[in-house]
Amino acid sequence: MTESPPSQFYDLRVRGMDCAEEVAALNRAVGPVVGGEERLQFDVLRGRMRVLASPDEVSVEEVRKAVARTGMRAEPWSDEREGVGAESFWARRGRTVLTALSGLLTLGGFALHAASAGGPVAAFTGIDPATGAETAIPLAAKVLYLVAILTGVWHILPRAWGAARALRPDMNLLMTVAITGAVGLGEWLEAASVAFLFALSQALEGWSVGRARRAVESLLDLSPTVARVRRADGGEETVSAGDVPVGTTVVVKPGEKIPLDAEIVLGTSEVDQAPITGESLPVYKGPGDEVFAGTINGGGALEVRTTRPAEETTLAHIVRLVEEAQSRRSPAERWVERFARLYTPAVMALAAAVMVLPPIAVGIWAGWAGWGGWSDWFYRGLVLLVIGCPCALVISTPVSIVAALASAARHGVLIKGGLFVEEPGRLDAIAFDKTGTLTTGEARVVRVVALDAGDGTGEAEVLAVAAALEARSEHPLARAIVAHAAERGVAIEPAEDVRALPGKGAVGRIGGRETWVGSHRYLVDRLGGGDGQGGSPAVDLASVEERLAELAADGHTAVVVGDESRVLGAIALADGLRPGVPEVIKALRRRGLDHLVMLTGDNRPTALAVAKEAGIDEVHAELLPEDKLGAVEELVARHGRVAMVGDGVNDAPAMGRSSLGIAMGAAGTDAAIETADVALMADDLSRLPWLIDHSRRTLAIIRQNIGFALGVKLVVFLLATVGLASLWAAIAADMGASLLVIANALRLLRG
Ligand code: ADP
Ligand code: MG
Repeated sequence: MTESPPSQFYDLRVRGMDCAEEVAALNRAVGPVVGGEERLQFDVLRGRMRVLASPDEVSVEEVRKAVARTGMRAEPWSDEREGVGAESFWARRGRTVLTALSGLLTLGGFALHAASAGGPVAAFTGIDPATGAETAIPLAAKVLYLVAILTGVWHILPRAWGAARALRPDMNLLMTVAITGAVGLGEWLEAASVAFLFALSQALEGWSVGRARRAVESLLDLSPTVARVRRADGGEETVSAGDVPVGTTVVVKPGEKIPLDAEIVLGTSEVDQAPITGESLPVYKGPGDEVFAGTINGGGALEVRTTRPAEETTLAHIVRLVEEAQSRRSPAERWVERFARLYTPAVMALAAAVMVLPPIAVGIWAGWAGWGGWSDWFYRGLVLLVIGCPCALVISTPVSIVAALASAARHGVLIKGGLFVEEPGRLDAIAFDKTGTLTTGEARVVRVVALDAGDGTGEAEVLAVAAALEARSEHPLARAIVAHAAERGVAIEPAEDVRALPGKGAVGRIGGRETWVGSHRYLVDRLGGGDGQGGSPAVDLASVEERLAELAADGHTAVVVGDESRVLGAIALADGLRPGVPEVIKALRRRGLDHLVMLTGDNRPTALAVAKEAGIDEVHAELLPEDKLGAVEELVARHGRVAMVGDGVNDAPAMGRSSLGIAMGAAGTDAAIETADVALMADDLSRLPWLIDHSRRTLAIIRQNIGFALGVKLVVFLLATVGLASLWAAIAADMGASLLVIANALRLLRG
């Protein structure tokens, strides 16, 4: 259910990649080395860069050199979680230590300065209040300030240098220039405090990105690492889950996590599946039932036989999807990136203009007499440079998206990309498949009728033929038919050459004769000979249809069974609505979604009965998979953004064409889950209104953050142009804004 990464790739950990700005820098520096930016994928949260090429094609060394040119550092990727022992103290804490040092030295310098100038006020303003003369900064204080500056910018200097060489001003360069400029103006205290505050804001950002990263990784931590394997001699042995082959018998004690996807062999228990499905109630399971890695066993001891290796469990898929989801950027993220790319150079140009133009204008106006004011304007220009840092803006959106993805996963909604976080909130219409989506898909056979006149075909034969064809099908109706045949003890002769006809039925040979089972629509197509199956000349369609209409009266699904020449009979199946569906439909309407449509391959009367019960008023029935696709296309043309919710192979094409494909994650077929953009892990449709709210909330938070970050910039900008904002106030505002937007984004984790 995941699109696996291309077969040829390798990963590197990039130190210092916390922000989309750095990604842009890496794209520029590394892109040409690997043969294009499209061969690079980034996971900012985990600090991972993926190169879509084999190491022979593009040497790791060259890539690392290219990364070094940006001032960042690439290391071989290891799957170990952050920070575990492997790194030296310096690698983990160096930044924090330097930042703290920078702060202390700034304070120290200020203390010395204050002592010699006659008080902190004098040191701060640079004017001795008693004499009105400028205070001098003692050499010792200058030295402390200088070291404070160096420790503060230590981590950004290489990147600033990289940006300067690439002629791509970024905030590291802006800050370096601003600090150098302040030193040039003799504003030592300002320069040191800006260096310190910038280092602090970077450290805090790293910390908050780390927090979002851990939220995603807490998903990973669900998977247990060891399994208790039952040995041939009956004893038990604890083995790493990664080494357990498929088909091994594993013992799970009460309360333990289930180590691998498996089938229960012995025992019954309540299993808490919340980690996978978000379902709050435990599910009762017994022999033959499937259990998933990462779910928690209740009170019963279980013996299970593993069905998948550790790296292919459902949980592993989910974790991989959530990870990969981050690299599919949402529209808001892309907007912010584009904006930042224009914003920084624009502000830089503006800053240069403020530094140069007003003094020149004043100079010309006053016949060069007023030229002396240039240092004021230079200072205002520097403040503008600080405002040019877009980080509060740039950091908040990806953090919001990741928080939204992680929180959705915890609620049993798997969103397969940042791209699809915003979509649910904007939908205009939703199309629902019927069988298995609106209905439980746990059909029951309610009646079997033999239609043949005269040759003695009995109900048992109708059932036997159908069951033989359905034996291996995963279709909900198929399972019901097979179960019913088994219940009635009908002998089944295995069918050969069985082929599923998605959305229609199945065909195959039994004892040399061609047989089929399928919908009314399929029967009509057969008679028409349209699909090359040959006609059935001996069929009186009108009388068959009469019987079918009877069977379908109570919303039952009726399938027809036949062979080359005749219709043998029909089977009526009851497949009730999922509980709560009418409420879900109402909840969707309350959210402004007025166009709710049912698309089904089932017979029209059945479809109408189910739609009425659910509260859906537009119904398209007897659709083949390509008709569903056409119906979705038509809905897109009519309404705009359309989601398709489905479970079957026959829904996959329509889901692919819709604006947002949503699959039933538990009962759905792999084809549907694969194509979908969102999977409802517990098949719980009440997650749909939740998802829409969640998406709208995420979008609102992103908008608030962008508005707030830009608003703060604007205020500081206005203050700066009239000379009321100092450098350190500008950076403090930026830092405060960053923290606030990140905190705001992390609210999404609480879902
Ligand atoms: P929906 O579109 O409501 O999910 P499907 O497309 O899965 O339903 O099936 C449409 C119709 O095709 C069913 O109502 C049934 O009549 C017929 N059909 C599809 N697959 C099978 C099958 N394996 N056995 C019998 N009938 C089938
Ligand atoms: Mg279906």
